[in-house]
Amino acid sequence: MSYVTQLRPHEFKVWKGKGPLLGSMDIELTERCNNNCVHCCINRPEDDADALNREIGTDFIKGILTEAAALGCMTVRFTGGEPLLRHDFAELYLFARRLGMRVVLFTNARLITPELVQLFASIPTGQVVEISVYGMSPKSYDRVVCKDGAFAEFWRGVQLLLEYNIPFVVKAPKLPFLQEEQREFEAWAATIPAMNKPPGYSMNFELRARRDDFAKNARIAKLRATPEESVASLASNALYMKDMGQFFQKFMHGPVGDKLFNCGAGHGTCIDAYGQAQLCLSLRRAECVVDLRETSIKRVLTELFPPMREISATNPDYLCRCARCFLIGLCEQCPAKSWSEYGTLDTPVEYLCEVAHAQARFLGLVGERENGWEVEDWRERVEAFVTAHGLTVSSD
Ligand code: SF4
Ligand code: SF4
Repeated sequence: MSYVTQLRPHEFKVWKGKGPLLGSMDIELTERCNNNCVHCCINRPEDDADALNREIGTDFIKGILTEAAALGCMTVRFTGGEPLLRHDFAELYLFARRLGMRVVLFTNARLITPELVQLFASIPTGQVVEISVYGMSPKSYDRVVCKDGAFAEFWRGVQLLLEYNIPFVVKAPKLPFLQEEQREFEAWAATIPAMNKPPGYSMNFELRARRDDFAKNARIAKLRATPEESVASLASNALYMKDMGQFFQKFMHGPVGDKLFNCGAGHGTCIDAYGQAQLCLSLRRAECVVDLRETSIKRVLTELFPPMREISATNPDYLCRCARCFLIGLCEQCPAKSWSEYGTLDTPVEYLCEVAHAQARFLGLVGERENGWEVEDWRERVEAFVTAHGLTVSSD
């Protein structure tokens, strides 16, 4: 018998029994951003004094990280706004790394400095840095982020990461005025050492998460890909059908009834810039958040979130449609999206409903005039799709 066993990552279990209470955690270090992207659902101005004054302090964040580590958390994602706007970013980074946590950084790269890449080179993040790219030229980039000179700073930031061999990946929004540069972006992305697959895109943009700017919501809605464009974009990936077969095999289990949270929300937590523990990063509704100044993460996860996860829909429209719809596994409808669009947790989001139906029609799951909530033989249709793509249907 060998003293050493070689395991692949998914076979490796640090924790015996049920595993850690908290596997990973998101902390939104600030809602402020040095960009003002046309499609952004969260940003506040970089110099917003009100946001700055309300942000949680360095010691408070260290306390959160310390408790999270004690609960088993091995990865923290620092996001924003732009997390590098915080003057204490390096201090928080080092603190998390000393606790043994891997750090995922979501950034626009404009504030990456020689000092920061030297820090990442000497104490690696443990995870790739994720960079959002808003264009491949000053003209397009500065137009998306509404800041003159932003492209030059972004480009300098990524060149520093490359120079110091800091692993990073890139992703981008699909915006109408970036279409011409998409090939150039993908060709560049393919040269980035840590990019082992094509870049991911966002195109069904979320509205303002704090429901704070209805004029901007109207602009964001205009920038969203239409249902047809969404399908065309997804289908342009050669692996789309096969991927969908695998997705259905795992996640298409039919209608879920009136229970609203059927996702991972509340099994972990996301901390906003003001110390509120949220069920998920997008859900800011007051009844679904807990102030961490008043309680511990452990109590949030074991006592306060579980009843929230049991909330049921009462909206008749939701009960007639989403509660009975087998496309719920394919559709992006969820309480957070419903909240940002309509201010309730249980209103079907019409745009997402149209996108899901367009996709389902393309995949042959529903007919031209059929709705997902009317289909009774959904199980047979899903099974036919899965087997047609060489996969077996799971027995559970
Ligand atoms: S860089 Fe990100 S957080 Fe900042 S405005 Fe753009 S989308 Fe929003
Ligand atoms: S496709 Fe429409 S009815 Fe079905 S879950 Fe999504 S929003 Fe609800």
